[in-house]
This record gives sequence, structure tokens and C-alpha cells, in this order.
Amino acid sequence: MIVGVPKEIKTREYRVGMVPAGAAALIAAGHTVLIETNAGVGSGIPDSEYQRVGAQIISTADEVWKRSEMIIKVKEPIAPEYARIQPGQIIYTYFHLAGVDPELTKTLLQKKAAAVAYETLQPDDGSLPLLKPMSEVAGKMAIQVGAKCLERAHGGKGILLGGVPGVRRGRVTVIGGGVVGLCAAKVAVGMGAEVTIIDVNMERLTYLDDVFLGRVGVLASDSESISRSVREADLVVGAVLIPGRKAPKLVSEALISEMSPGSVVVDVAVDQGGCIETCKPTTHDNPTFEVHGVVHYCVANMPGAVPQTSTYALTNVTRPYSLRIANVGLAAAVKEDRALARAMNTYNGHVTYEAVAKDMGYAY
Ligand code: NAD
Repeated sequence: MIVGVPKEIKTREYRVGMVPAGAAALIAAGHTVLIETNAGVGSGIPDSEYQRVGAQIISTADEVWKRSEMIIKVKEPIAPEYARIQPGQIIYTYFHLAGVDPELTKTLLQKKAAAVAYETLQPDDGSLPLLKPMSEVAGKMAIQVGAKCLERAHGGKGILLGGVPGVRRGRVTVIGGGVVGLCAAKVAVGMGAEVTIIDVNMERLTYLDDVFLGRVGVLASDSESISRSVREADLVVGAVLIPGRKAPKLVSEALISEMSPGSVVVDVAVDQGGCIETCKPTTHDNPTFEVHGVVHYCVANMPGAVPQTSTYALTNVTRPYSLRIANVGLAAAVKEDRALARAMNTYNGHVTYEAVAKDMGYAY
């Protein structure tokens, strides 16, 4: 199979969909790998590293897309890339179709492209192995950026999360105690903040209570616990997920208006539409805005800020599936592996993931 890797063009997105080890594995299995020139530079990987393992360096994105049977990326295709999608092409990347421009889904359907979405690839145990490493990165970053936003010079109220002896610690509320939530809580606890995690899943709350040895508060998610914790928090991290669906709006604008001025919200779930009503997607170029005196950080591709960590973390887990698709073809790979079957979001002109179809008004 001819496998192509274009350079990411989303603002400040420095990750790349394949590292030289991935190219080497595909080439050893008899496939051809086309890498757009400078695709890896943002992650510290020069073209020569890909050439060394036998990949071809291609000078334009148009040519990579045109010649490839499978495109491997990081972020969903954005408007300038829609015209490059080839009829029937396999595109293996993050899509988040329910949360992004509906034109993308239309284009994928029109072109009968096969959208194999990292975020819905799901083994029978319900885990999301291709989302996990990026969620780990975003969860850890959420506290790092949240702490920065709390500084006065960045619009925050001027609170140090860890406090100092004699002064209260910063209060962090994490809504959603999955991978993002756990990693955010770990960093917040490490910095010395007072941390509360809210989740709907009681088993998960029990697990969190166990691993943090009582060092964090764990609360069942309902409107009361959310209102109370958000009102009292200096920093709120939105980290809920219902796989493939738009995030539920758990924090209303009215509740945001009750937070004290200079508080901060980091809505990591923004890539699924956000769980905070006042959230709208931002970019690394202009990451924050203010509503009712509360600083909002809603960058949809947070891991793009730490590409050297993120690219290797992501490609470690995406590689085995791309190799299988290339080796046996998409149809056979999907038949053999139910996790991969669940990653299929569009195929041959149809939306093939129920939650995406429901949210976007397509037949399933
Ligand atoms: P996860 O499935 O591990 O965790 C989600 C948690 O939300 C689960 O524990 C679930 O029980 C909980 N939840 C669901 N409904 C809830 C509710 N009503 N109240 C409270 N909790 C609820 O998911 P994750 O990997 O932690 O990802 C969380 C979000 O972060 C996703 O939307 C993901 O796409 C996003 N994400 C964003 C970025 C970014 O750059 N912005 C990067 C990585 C992940």
C-alpha cells in the first residue's frame, strides 16, 4: 500500500502522524511511505531521518494526498485539505466529527472516504487506547496552563496553586475523572493544590479515592456538586467524555458568572464541543478569552504544544493498527479486529459510527 504523511497545517500543530520507526516498519513489510517535506521538523525529526529508513520525501501536500491510498495524520483535515481528499481514500487520524466543521463530514461522505478515527478505536474493554496518550498529555498540561492563567499578568486572580505556609492553597475542581482528569489531578496534587474530582461513574470514583489515598475529594456528578465546587474553585478543568458524542454542558454561563473574578477554566473537552457553556475553541496563538471576568483556556489541540512528547506517545499506539490496515487491507483488518471496526466513522458514503450519526443528523 502507498501510505502518505502530510505536514499538519492547523495553527501551531507541530506533531506528525508517523516517526521514522513507523516508516521503517511499513517499508520492511513491503509498503511505500511518502512524507511531505518538513512534516517531522516540528517534532525534531528532519527529512533525512525518514530518508534513512527508505521513505520518499515529497515536496507538496497535494502530491502526498493524490498518490496515497492511506493518509496518516494527527488532526482532522481542515478546510484547505478538503479538496485534497481522494475518492475512496483511507484517512487514519483524529476526526472528532461531532465537534468540528460539519463540512468535513459532508466532504468525507461525498468522496466516499474511509475515516478511521483514532478517538473511537475501542477494544471490547471499553478503553480508548489511541486517545489515552494525548489525554495524558492534555491532562498534565491543563494544570500547567491553568496555573499560568491564574497569574495576574495573564488575567488571573493572582493565586499560586500550592500556596505557601500561612496562606490557603489554590482550589482545583476537575469535572470528569477519566484519563485527562486523573493526570490533571496528579499534577495539581503534586503542586500542592486542594483538588476535587467529580465523575458520574461510581467505580471510577472509588478507584480515584484509592489511588490518591484520600488526598483529593471525589464527588458524584450532579448539578449540586458541580455548582458548589465550581463556585468555590480557582481553577476548573473540564474533562468529561461520552465517546463520539458532543460533551454535555455541565457548567452553565450563569454558574461561570458566580465564580470569583480572575478564576480560570480550562475546558479540555473542547474538542468534543466543551462541557462548559461559555467555552469556544481557541488556538495556541490566542489561547484565552474572558467571560464574566473568568479566564477561559479552550485550545482544541493542547498536545500540539509539546510535540516531541506527543508525537512519540501517539505514534507508539497508532503504529500497530496502520501496519495491519496496510498489510491486509482495510476491509479485512476491520473484520478481524472489533476495536478497529469501532474506529470507522465514515465508509463508502455512509456515517458508520452511531453516536456521530445521531449528533450530526445522519442516518445510521
Ligand atoms: P475518559 O473517557 O478517560 O474520561 C471521561 C470521564 O468523563 C469518564 O470518567 C466519565 O465517567 C466522565 N463523565 C462522563 N459524563 C460525565 C458527567 N456528566 N459528569 C462527570 N463526569 C462525567 O476521557 P479522557 O481521555 O479523559 O478525555 C476527556 C476529554 O478530553 C475528551 O473530550 C477528549 O477528546 C478530550 N481531549 C482533549 C484534548 C485537547 O487538546 N483539548 C486532548 C486530549 C483529550
